[in-house]
Amino acid sequence: MAKRADFEALDRADELAAFRAQFELPDNLVYLDGNSLGALPRSARERVAHVVAQEWGHGLIRSWDQADWIGLPLRAGEKVARLIGAAPGQVVVADSTSVNLYKVLSVALAARGERRLVIAEGTGFPTDLYMAQGLIAQLGQGHELVLVGRGTGELEAALAKRASEAAAVLLTHVDYRSGHMHDMAGITRLAHDAGALIVWDLAHSAGAMPVELDSCDADFAVGCGYKFLNGGPGAPAFVYVARRLQEGQVQPLTGWMGHANPFAFESGYEAAAGIARFLCGTPAILAMSALDSALDVMLEAPMEAIRRKSMALGVKFVSLVGEECGGHGLKLASPVDPQLRGSQISYSHPRSHTIMDALIARGVIGDCREPDILRFGFAPLYNRYVDVWDAVVALRAALS
Ligand SMILES: *Cc1c(COP(=O)(O)O)cnc(C)c1O
Repeated sequence: MAKRADFEALDRADELAAFRAQFELPDNLVYLDGNSLGALPRSARERVAHVVAQEWGHGLIRSWDQADWIGLPLRAGEKVARLIGAAPGQVVVADSTSVNLYKVLSVALAARGERRLVIAEGTGFPTDLYMAQGLIAQLGQGHELVLVGRGTGELEAALAKRASEAAAVLLTHVDYRSGHMHDMAGITRLAHDAGALIVWDLAHSAGAMPVELDSCDADFAVGCGYKFLNGGPGAPAFVYVARRLQEGQVQPLTGWMGHANPFAFESGYEAAAGIARFLCGTPAILAMSALDSALDVMLEAPMEAIRRKSMALGVKFVSLVGEECGGHGLKLASPVDPQLRGSQISYSHPRSHTIMDALIARGVIGDCREPDILRFGFAPLYNRYVDVWDAVVALRAALS
């Protein structure tokens, strides 16, 4: 029989244990929703206070230069780059994931000329599909969005059968419902073999596991700042564009911050060199400052250790749920193999909402996704092994 003391012992041996003290977390709360909104790093609170009081309050307009606000999107982008396997000059922080997706998908379609097929997963996060639909409607060039199943072989079949038409493949690396993780290198190769470009959505990957965009030969990627990156509610997102694709097509949101010389105030648009052309308007400095300091916390931790602990927490959770919560109709909705999962564990249950409400009332926060999914996210920088124990004890009580 497992005991809480066993989990306390795991925490004592945890190489990342010290990171928890860098986050503000309410007492008596088990927070397993860092995959939706990461916890508050203490340094982010201090940084925002400083930016407000000093840089804004005292520096005023001078802070664009003196505090290098103007360089923040690129500086923060380089920090994200180190977390996702991107060499310098390929990532910038800006706008939202949805908006960045629009930019890169536009470039991908323009770069693929007469090809008209966009392949995505029907179970993918809706905003990705909506943005693709909106772009296709706006282009009015007869692009077709084909939705395939995840891990069903349909993607491979579509790429094989319609290779001459395939323009772009749009995939979420880690599925938001099940937590299933794709083989990024393998699928990227498959898309390229068909002559298509690939866009990876890293919403549930960045900060949760090693990602190797460059070595996978990825073309484009987007992702959120507020999930595992702990950048705060509505934090700006990031966009990655492989260097080889930066100088060709110009992304369509040609705002002045992406201009070659914004402060020349010229009447005609000329795209900046490199990744800077993926900027649009004035960066949200307060929000980006919070994200920037959260990234510093994450960069202190070896990503391999984050992944190791993430998998260990998931394995412990699944096995303890198996021992303690049998007979209540919970079905594991995540892959059984931890190597195939991101940093969340999902179960399906017809009364998912009722169960989650009861759990939250017991001080354990996860969330639900339609139609019947209970999600538990594990953020290795601040979640403890005892959180697994306490969550399962509460889950058992909620179920009965
Ligand atoms: C959370 C999430 C988003 C969110 O996009 P926003 O523009 O930040 O609202 C996009 N894609 C995926 C896969 C997500 O999980």
